[in-house]
Amino acid sequence: MARYQRMSNVYAPTLKEDPAEAELASHRLLLRAGMIRREAAGLYSYLPLAWRSILKIEQVIREEMANVGAQEMRVPILTDATLWQESGRWGAYGAELMRVTDRHDREFALGPTHEEAFTDLVRNELKSYKQLPLVIYQMQDKFRDELRPRFGLMRSREFIMKDAYSFAADQESSRACYDDQKAAYTRIFERLGVRALPVVADTGEIGGDSSVEFMAIADAGEAELVWCDCGWAADTEAGTAAIPVTEGTATELTRLETPDIHTIADLARQLDVPESATRKAFALVDGDGKPWVCIVPGDHQVNDVKASHAFGDCHMMGDEEIASWGLHVGYMGPVGLPEGVHVAADISLKDSRSWLVGANEEGFHLAGARPGRDFEVDRWVDVAEAKEGDLCPECGRPLHGARGIEVGQVFLFDDKYSTPMGATFAAEDGTERPLLMGSYGIGVSRTLAAVVEQCHDDSGICFPVPVAPYEVSVVPLSVGDDLVWPAAKAVAQELADLGIEVVLDDRDERAGVKFADNDLWGFPYQVVCGKRGVKEGICELKERRSGDKRELPLEEAASVVAGLVKEARS
Ligand code: ATP
Ligand code: MG
Repeated sequence: MARYQRMSNVYAPTLKEDPAEAELASHRLLLRAGMIRREAAGLYSYLPLAWRSILKIEQVIREEMANVGAQEMRVPILTDATLWQESGRWGAYGAELMRVTDRHDREFALGPTHEEAFTDLVRNELKSYKQLPLVIYQMQDKFRDELRPRFGLMRSREFIMKDAYSFAADQESSRACYDDQKAAYTRIFERLGVRALPVVADTGEIGGDSSVEFMAIADAGEAELVWCDCGWAADTEAGTAAIPVTEGTATELTRLETPDIHTIADLARQLDVPESATRKAFALVDGDGKPWVCIVPGDHQVNDVKASHAFGDCHMMGDEEIASWGLHVGYMGPVGLPEGVHVAADISLKDSRSWLVGANEEGFHLAGARPGRDFEVDRWVDVAEAKEGDLCPECGRPLHGARGIEVGQVFLFDDKYSTPMGATFAAEDGTERPLLMGSYGIGVSRTLAAVVEQCHDDSGICFPVPVAPYEVSVVPLSVGDDLVWPAAKAVAQELADLGIEVVLDDRDERAGVKFADNDLWGFPYQVVCGKRGVKEGICELKERRSGDKRELPLEEAASVVAGLVKEARS
């Protein structure tokens, strides 16, 4: 006989008060609902309700991995330091790598990710193109000594990750593995009820569309994004949007007296033009120590990550450094720069012919400055940070802004690990070649936090059915009542028999406490059995997320609710 769970047996100690340390809704609610507990900074226990949700997330991932032919397996969490030395990451990973020494003074890392371990696994035995492509993955705890572990499951030091690795013989087949994983990720988040955008990631030296991050849209997200209705989305650090630049009206170079103007906002106000009609100047020193004045549209910022791609290991000048190069804070521009200072400009300005810029003279600006006539641009660079209202590079529509939580990332990186680690295979033409690889991660525990960020209200969590610890709770309002109690038990049993995951709130608590707790736990459907209703043969169905309530005849309740649940399952 199928069984329902009695709530009195579930270890889910709720908290009455908001925990002081929890800033984010997910952190606060998972703690309050008795789903997680902090053991030390960045280390959490998953209590039974959370664990059920985690297992469900894993199950959806497993099904979608099987769909694209990926095989589950497991490597040890501890990885030998020598592997990390081979790949060059023993040093490069820095303080985030948790290092362990055994009794023989051998060093290990608690795996933060397992490219090395998986490459090592295949390098001695995967020898022929006939064995390729191969996609293997695991579901495992990962360790990262995060500088600032915070926000509960969002950024912890031990967390659950699904990590997959693909090995292929040629670019085409490697790309096919990558595309499969990417498509699987889209389905996984859809099925889990997580609204996640695939965002082209900043891949540094690899470039191109060889990495995509899946960003769950949430105000609490750490990443700033721009996205378009057509599906294009990017991190503001990586995306190149089309910036609508407002052209100046002056055709001749005109000197304007602008005393006490120190910001773009002041300038735009005084001249009564939009900020986009002005040009903002940043002073920076590039990786080779050369000084630059870099111009962007007045309503945009230079993004640090983009700047580091354009200028190498650069830094923005502070006020003193600016003065030391003979420049004037608030009045910098491309015309008449001191000897040795170079001019760079954002690519969005390439077609603009009339720039309103600082005059490189205290108290003056120039209107109508024209590249090629009044000054030369030494380098056109892509450094302006994309923002809401810029135009989609694919379809030209205005972009929306949003914040996102990185719940997954897919990566193609060719022979980045296989070459240094000597993982080669015999190709069809008999040559020995490095395996082409990709790796694919999903933050399983972070995904649970992202679900809660996206699905909660003032009273608690509103779990989507596919991630809910239980799909239905049956709530008898008086456990001792000899009408209510048997009626509630019967509904719970029927639901269980219909294959629904159901919990019976058999706790001897006041109605108010039960309502509050069930809302906090976020069970998607609550069947409430009260004395008056039961007498008349009815119960009340509450849908947690919408708050909608309706009465149902007791004898139909289970089949109606089971129907709703099954429809909402993934
Ligand atoms: P972040 O930029 O947020 O630090 P990352 O890009 O370093 O993450 P990846 O190496 O891409 O992370 O790891 C794959 C996935 O593991 C991430 O997309 C994220 O969902 C999850 N993850 C990474 N770090 C943590 C962490 N400290 N706590 C929980 N989940 C994490
Ligand atoms: Mg990542």
